[in-house]
Amino acid sequence: MSAVMISRKATRKWEKLPGKNTFCCDGRIMMARQKGVFYLTLFLIIGTCSLFFAFECPYLAVHLSPAIPVFAVLLFLFVMSMLLRTSFSDPGVLPRALPEEASFIEMEIEAANGNVPAGQRPPPRIKNVQINNQIVKLKYCYTCKIFRPPRASHCSICDNCVDRFDHHCPWVGNCVGKRNYRYFYLFTLSLSLLTIYIFTFDIVHVVLRSVDSGFVSTIKETPGTVLEVLVCFFTLWSVVGLTGFHTYLISLNQTTNEDIKGSWSGKNRVQNPYSHKNIIKNCCEVLCGPTYPSVLDRRGVLVDIPNPSTPGAPSTVNSNPVPQTTKTTAPLIPNEHTPEEAKPSIGATSPKEEKPSTPRDASLKSPSNPAVIKESAH
Ligand SMILES: [Zn+2]
Ligand SMILES: [Zn+2]
Repeated sequence: MSAVMISRKATRKWEKLPGKNTFCCDGRIMMARQKGVFYLTLFLIIGTCSLFFAFECPYLAVHLSPAIPVFAVLLFLFVMSMLLRTSFSDPGVLPRALPEEASFIEMEIEAANGNVPAGQRPPPRIKNVQINNQIVKLKYCYTCKIFRPPRASHCSICDNCVDRFDHHCPWVGNCVGKRNYRYFYLFTLSLSLLTIYIFTFDIVHVVLRSVDSGFVSTIKETPGTVLEVLVCFFTLWSVVGLTGFHTYLISLNQTTNEDIKGSWSGKNRVQNPYSHKNIIKNCCEVLCGPTYPSVLDRRGVLVDIPNPSTPGAPSTVNSNPVPQTTKTTAPLIPNEHTPEEAKPSIGATSPKEEKPSTPRDASLKSPSNPAVIKESAH
């Protein structure tokens, strides 16, 4: 028995997760696989700030105020912490359905649609839910084999469904979604302030020095200033513009994805059911609302043990008491089309999945959804 225990190979769940993410620090850090632009972001921020600390700060601290470099350092640290918080966290990835869940959903869809004659296209896989008296469509994800919760979307770069998907941001090297949106917004806001701050004090520095020793000799003495001014000038427009755009979205409680698709534009007489119709309330919900735990359980342990039915073939068993995070409660709700024989069999195979703390329960009943969602049509 002890030999068996020793030979067991412990595996963390992040090692088996599908999708195109990379993990560091034994699953604690999670990012998209493509990180080239993220390194450029780091280089631009750290490089520009280093030049500012080296060339302008000593002069400004002596001739104006020592508070100038102190505030710059604090702002720089805040920008970096918000960037790394956005980049290294789970944006709200939804787990894919387990094989038995996927086959049950398939069976449920087939039962609901009936027999489609050969040659005819099957109807689109959509479920309708009612949120704040608005009918919202839940679309089926053919990759994750789930009906996505409202506001979720599949990121083609990360190959995952992400809850309250905003967009995939190559600059931060991660998706922006339910779990990291507020940090992303604080990053863009603080970066705007930092860029304006450095740009302003670059100009002040050049003007003060030029009075003493002339413009040309000032530029020769501090060559980094010209580079900083150029980087800040071109960064300013895009970052401030982006911050303004996200401030507008937050005031409406809307995501970039919904804005681009025109989800709540009123075309289909569907108003945004998440908006409180009040800018302050919308801002409070997006920026100060509750934080959500990751439902991936990345650092949970999987243990390979010999499968008794087929000697020698290992099977993976979840040793973690936390329930498997692949529940698809909304799509799995049996309806009148569900075959009777399917209902007890699913219930019998996964009794613990009925716990309300499972992720898709959480996503559907979470405080971010201001209304109780109920299935209204099939
Ligand atoms: Zn998906
Ligand atoms: Zn992504």
